[in-house]
Amino acid sequence: MALMTAQEYIESLRKLKTRVYMFGEEIENWVDHPMIRPSINCVAMTYALAQDPQYADLMTVKSSLTGHTVNRFTHLHQSTEDLINKVKMQRLLGQKTASCFQRCVGMDAFNAVFSSTYEIDEKYGTHYHENFKNFITMVQDNDLTVDGAMTDPKGDRSKAPSQQADPDMYVHVVERREDGIVVCGAKCHQTGSINSHWHIFMPTISMGEADKDWAVSFACPTDAEGMYMIYGRQSCDTRKLEEGASIDVGNAKFGGQEALVVLDHVFIPNEYIFLNGEYEFAGMIVERFAGYHRQSYGGCKVGVGDVVIGATALAAEYNGVEKASAVKDKLIEMTHLNETLYCCGIACSSQGFKTKAGNYQIDLLLANVCKQNVTRFPYEIVRLAEDVAGGLMVTMPSQKDFESDTVVGRNGETIGDICKKFFAAREGVSTEDRQRVMRFLENMCLGAAAVGYRTESMHGAGSPQAQRIMIARQGNIQGKKQLAKDIAGIQ
Ligand code: SF4
Ligand code: FE
Repeated sequence: MALMTAQEYIESLRKLKTRVYMFGEEIENWVDHPMIRPSINCVAMTYALAQDPQYADLMTVKSSLTGHTVNRFTHLHQSTEDLINKVKMQRLLGQKTASCFQRCVGMDAFNAVFSSTYEIDEKYGTHYHENFKNFITMVQDNDLTVDGAMTDPKGDRSKAPSQQADPDMYVHVVERREDGIVVCGAKCHQTGSINSHWHIFMPTISMGEADKDWAVSFACPTDAEGMYMIYGRQSCDTRKLEEGASIDVGNAKFGGQEALVVLDHVFIPNEYIFLNGEYEFAGMIVERFAGYHRQSYGGCKVGVGDVVIGATALAAEYNGVEKASAVKDKLIEMTHLNETLYCCGIACSSQGFKTKAGNYQIDLLLANVCKQNVTRFPYEIVRLAEDVAGGLMVTMPSQKDFESDTVVGRNGETIGDICKKFFAAREGVSTEDRQRVMRFLENMCLGAAAVGYRTESMHGAGSPQAQRIMIARQGNIQGKKQLAKDIAGIQ
């Protein structure tokens, strides 16, 4: 089957019977819901750009399994060049949407589960790798979007899955049958889950023997019987519900999406199981998926950062301060920080290596350094954006005020006239353009888009401490001690 167009992708979602809840109610037509649609438009962009000849080399690639042309979001990386192109593609998508475009979690799950299942089979003679190859071939052939679901609710963090008072705090097997397994549990803050055709579930931590029933990985369709999603609300999200709202939303076209995904006795046939009790491999899947996703942030957040820097420069221009040396220097600093993140994304890709299964893995230490920087630099970038933009980005009257005919002035001036008079930008710039750029920055710095640019930079792909653990493990302090000993003449 050929690659889907953006429109075909959107229509394909309508065919699913995905159960979505928001504000305490089931949403029937969630595809057209004003709070959900911007996030669908984002995923649709991964399809649209793949159809654009200008981006064909970056967005599409020959499948290692079938030789067919597939979207890079469904690809198993075959070289360090593939890993670098992945990061470049993510930067491009960030630039085109200024949002989280969600489809990477599936791509990162594909690559982690592909290599891990090979090594599980090698040890146990299981058939998980074959299962996975059949699954990923179906995904590539149908150009599907898949959610990579990892983060369990975790309950009491001091306890292992098997020690939790409520066993559902981690996804687990509740019944083993001849033809498959039945699973229960949930995954929290799942990026793009509603917008995905399928899900891959993976464990979220390393596990011990007692956690066998929790050491489970599998794929299932998003509208599987027993599965549903509760939408995660975002800051200022109901602005999207205001009649005629566009300017006040900041980014009316695109947005991210997270949801709570619940599995209430979902049956998984044998052919979609990729791990089932081989507990010592849970950690491998977690480490590989997290590594890939920490690499991803060296692309996607950089692309979004490009738009934030551009908007900041526009705000300065509209305010008439773009020539001030202090403003120029702040834009340089923002660029420096943003490109440093990109350097990390490219570096961990270029130092990648071939796994036993044949696909390519990033350098884990550098990917964790990449993500650790992402937990900091976007915060400094938005601080500088707010600095340059000025307080107007959060104090400006609403779009309705700017459009209002209500007379308030002694000479018949309307609220709209007064707003336009006092919020006028420099000569030659429309007040509306100034409104747009200010509201966009508000959205990026502290509105709905700040979910993707700030808090997701902190906690997505693992919180900062998770990277520090990996950096400690990979940092080779013993080897460094030896270097010092050799030079200092210590026996
Ligand atoms: Fe992709 Fe970035 Fe969103 Fe993760 S946070 S899904 S890497 S856009
Ligand atoms: Fe993310």
